Amino acid sequence: MKVLVLNCGSSSVKFQVIETSLEMIEANSDVTVARGLVEKIGLSDSRLSMDTPGRKPYQEIGEILEHRAAVERVLKVLAHPEYGVLKDVKEIEAVGHRVVHGGEKFASSVQITPEVEAMIEECVVLAPLHNPHNLRGIIAARSLLSDVPQFAVFDTAFHQSMPPKAFIYGLPYDLYTHHAIRRYGFHGTSHRYVSLRAAKLLGRKLEEMRIITCHLGNGCSMAAIDRGHSVDTTMGFTPLEGLLMGTRSGDMDAAILPWVMAMEELTLSQLNAMLNKHSGLYGISGVSSDMREIEKAVGSGNHRAQLAFDIFCYRIRKYIGGYAAAMNGIDAVVFTGGIGENSDLVREASTVGLDFLGLDLDPDVNRKAPRGQEMIVSKASSRSAIIIIPTNEERVIARDVVRVLGGVMPSFSVPSNEAPR
Ligand code: ADP
Repeated sequence: MKVLVLNCGSSSVKFQVIETSLEMIEANSDVTVARGLVEKIGLSDSRLSMDTPGRKPYQEIGEILEHRAAVERVLKVLAHPEYGVLKDVKEIEAVGHRVVHGGEKFASSVQITPEVEAMIEECVVLAPLHNPHNLRGIIAARSLLSDVPQFAVFDTAFHQSMPPKAFIYGLPYDLYTHHAIRRYGFHGTSHRYVSLRAAKLLGRKLEEMRIITCHLGNGCSMAAIDRGHSVDTTMGFTPLEGLLMGTRSGDMDAAILPWVMAMEELTLSQLNAMLNKHSGLYGISGVSSDMREIEKAVGSGNHRAQLAFDIFCYRIRKYIGGYAAAMNGIDAVVFTGGIGENSDLVREASTVGLDFLGLDLDPDVNRKAPRGQEMIVSKASSRSAIIIIPTNEERVIARDVVRVLGGVMPSFSVPSNEAPR
């Protein structure tokens, strides 16, 4: 079946049409029919671009004022007689939406009903910058494709299996019971997908493995996946916690915040911008948030770029050690995301010297790893594997749609893990 996957941001709509089925999932042979992006929604020069395998990329520029108009335009382009990929939009049998925050309400992907929509609305308070746009996409698709079932796939759901000891902060407990302040974790679809693929690649059962997944893109997070269940992850109440990222600080002493606010006379929004936009690789190096630029600067002897690179990798090593302790060992470390898939330097600096954990990288294989391929980069003799798995969040969303629609539960089952109220 053809599934339309929508990922709606504040001024953008990413879309893919994916041909998939239970059989194609099993054979890992789902097909991306088209992928594209609407950008600059709300401006007069909004841009819709679409890539279709084997064809020239398509692009149009023109005013698209809001999300409904964007989705309407996407459907028109997908079914265009000349450059479209569908004879009719009726070929779309289901729509899968990426929804950032499912709070404690959603532990797996679900078909969207009015009740589900109301619950997603209730999670807006937890993700005010994301969920409202996700909801706009849902409302738009429902009004434009009225008979087509819609599904929500949450970034947070996979981590709902974390035990309370991993998700409760050392803060007054009322903040949890009154305001739902706890660690949620993000990138769940990616962590879930790459752990499954890693087990497949090794020819082992996920239910028997302890895997650490490193999703390293502009945002970065790691997860400890114990026999298929996320038991810990580095991002927390928001995506700020944990690893060093392109422009986000990751872990730090929270007492710095009131101190800096007072000393620099910062407003709340300036403080937020400092933590989310001016920190991380960019803040430390002063060069860029982009790992390719950091690596270039390191190559030309820039000390602050070197420091940013070292901090980035050192934190990954520390979490590998921590998660190995949390799971009493590891069978595999998986790298994904733009940096994880492409930077041999980061993979090497993060894993070399961890032989006490049974990790033995093959530097040659790691350096020569071809792009975009699933690949084992540890030595054959390594007790724990080091693996590259290109992530594909849209594919996970399409697959979940098929699984939920087909009455097959998503391939992970999540214990109910709320802390006492
Ligand atoms: P997002 O989180 O926005 O989806 P990506 O997963 O595309 O981001 O990752 C973007 C990051 O990947 C950037 O820091 C970029 O520099 C890095 N990256 C992409 N290609 C390479 C490469 N060949 N070497 C090192 N880093 C790379």
